[in-house]
Amino acid sequence: MGLTDIRTRIEDACTRAGRKPADVALIAISKVQPNERVKAVLDEGHRLFGENTVQEAEGKWPDFRARYDGVEVHLVGPLQSNKARRAVEIFDAIHSVDRPKIARTIARLAQEIGHCPDLFLQVNTGEEPQKAGVLPDETDAFVAECRALDLPVRGLMCIPPVEETPSLHFALLAKLAARNDLSGLSMGMSGDFEEAIAQGATHVRVGSAIFGERVY
Ligand SMILES: *Cc1c(COP(=O)(O)O)cnc(C)c1O
Repeated sequence: MGLTDIRTRIEDACTRAGRKPADVALIAISKVQPNERVKAVLDEGHRLFGENTVQEAEGKWPDFRARYDGVEVHLVGPLQSNKARRAVEIFDAIHSVDRPKIARTIARLAQEIGHCPDLFLQVNTGEEPQKAGVLPDETDAFVAECRALDLPVRGLMCIPPVEETPSLHFALLAKLAARNDLSGLSMGMSGDFEEAIAQGATHVRVGSAIFGERVY
């Protein structure tokens, strides 16, 4: 485990899939990890990170951004309306745009603030009642609505049901993205990023396999 090992596994997965490693961004998910582990990964030269909450990112990243050039931080966890302004201000991308209401809020805030993070629309591919995201059937309409709001929609994101074969969900997300002319696919975590790459992932979100287990 560790950054070097994950990079090697990404390269191997790309080779098997006939893809270029440069076309797969590795987002190191640093949520809950102690700062010294995050610093170690920064010191290895990695610059792209993901966080689960606005609050944790606000506490951790201003300092690291001041000390390291070129840091990019993406929000991958659920976004509440009352945190949306800060999210638009501090993140380079948001992967969890999961409902029309939050899309409209982001559009309004982006107008006021004068810039907008790259956006990924979250799809609930497993149609799980407790999980965020629009349903597969609603995806085309949601993409169209976000585009009508002039939002910078880069792609789709999913978190497959734990007990199901992730590849089927990755393939479904890839199909939904392709028919909406979206090139970005945010899918794959520590346990399944190689399968995600095989299905076309452009952004894999890997936490514990880089940093070690999260201790809550
Ligand atoms: C925590 C988290 C990850 C990383 O999970 P690991 O299993 O530690 O790789 C990826 N995506 C999202 C949305 C997460 O919340």
